[in-house]
Amino acid sequence: MRWGLIGASNIAANHMIGAIRGAGGDIRSVLSSSGARAAAYAAEHGIPRGSDDLEALLAADDLEAVYISTTNEKHFVQAMAAIAAGKHVLCEKPLAMTVGDAVTMVRAAQTAGVVFATNHHLRNAGSHLAIRAALQAGRIGDVLSVRVFHAVHLPPFLRGWRIDNPAAGGGVIPDIVVHDADTVRFHLGEDPVEVVAMSGASGMGKGVEDSCMSVWTMPSGAMVMAHESFTHAFAKTGFELHGTKGSIVARNVMTQAPVGEILLRTGSGEEALSFSDHNLYGRAVGLFNDACAGNGRPAADGIDGVKSLAVAAAVADAAATGQRTAVNYGG
Ligand code: NDP
Repeated sequence: MRWGLIGASNIAANHMIGAIRGAGGDIRSVLSSSGARAAAYAAEHGIPRGSDDLEALLAADDLEAVYISTTNEKHFVQAMAAIAAGKHVLCEKPLAMTVGDAVTMVRAAQTAGVVFATNHHLRNAGSHLAIRAALQAGRIGDVLSVRVFHAVHLPPFLRGWRIDNPAAGGGVIPDIVVHDADTVRFHLGEDPVEVVAMSGASGMGKGVEDSCMSVWTMPSGAMVMAHESFTHAFAKTGFELHGTKGSIVARNVMTQAPVGEILLRTGSGEEALSFSDHNLYGRAVGLFNDACAGNGRPAADGIDGVKSLAVAAAVADAAATGQRTAVNYGG
């Protein structure tokens, strides 16, 4: 498939260019807001063309798909232009700055008949696929609660707009709560109903929150607690599900790499669960390619992206108001 990159980003350079090429994709062009940066990025990554003109990029090279990884406030306009040009779209999270815009993007893609996917990588991890298989096999019975530990230490090269630019979608809530919402939805197969939350700045955030804790209710009655941060150098991540017949305790699994450990604890004792170490982004691109060819659906589609954003928006509102807040999925 012939691809264009919209955004000369770190995530594309560090993960997605390799994943797209690894799945057989031909990256024809890259868009940057700066023509010079587009040219330099194209040269560095062996991409034939760099451009600062979105319409020209979409019109050239007979592109079939685009991958959007600009800062968050640009996703909406760029995705809508790509959809209007008939391109399949793999869009970074959060899909947009508002749930309403994200719904508009998904509806536009449906109307245009193009595939629209959200790049939620965690549901592609071998670890999370193994956790879900254990859940679906009834290994822990009915889920009572979920604890998500996603407090990380933002590396210096990512401390730009994320920590000081609310207009670009900075802050830990748009950055990480969306991933946690998607992962919880992936495992439980249901959507959070109400949330309470507090957020704050603990050393990095300037004008945006760098830390957040929240509690979510689920339709089944399960409760979720989630902790996200940019400032925790030693915490390591984790994901725990506690059920009527057992618990799953996973460590170091809220990551971009295919790593971590999963422990299943039941009345019979403790068991380490093994899992595949495939590349998370490679699997996401492979399923996206299949969907564009008419086979199956992307790992996370546009509706998944709307829902993860809706949970994050509710967490942000709850933290700002101090009120218990219903998640509004935008109809
Ligand atoms: P970056 O800051 O690396 O890139 C965002 C934009 O910043 C780029 O499009 C580029 O603008 C500009 N930029 C980047 N590096 C430079 C530089 N050295 N000099 C000048 N401008 C620069 O952000 P990320 O790659 O971390 O994130 C991009 C998107 O991807 C976000 O929506 C984020 O939420 C998402 N993301 C998703 C992840 C996932 O696992 N699903 C992981 C990380 C990010 P321009 O294109 O105009 O040149």
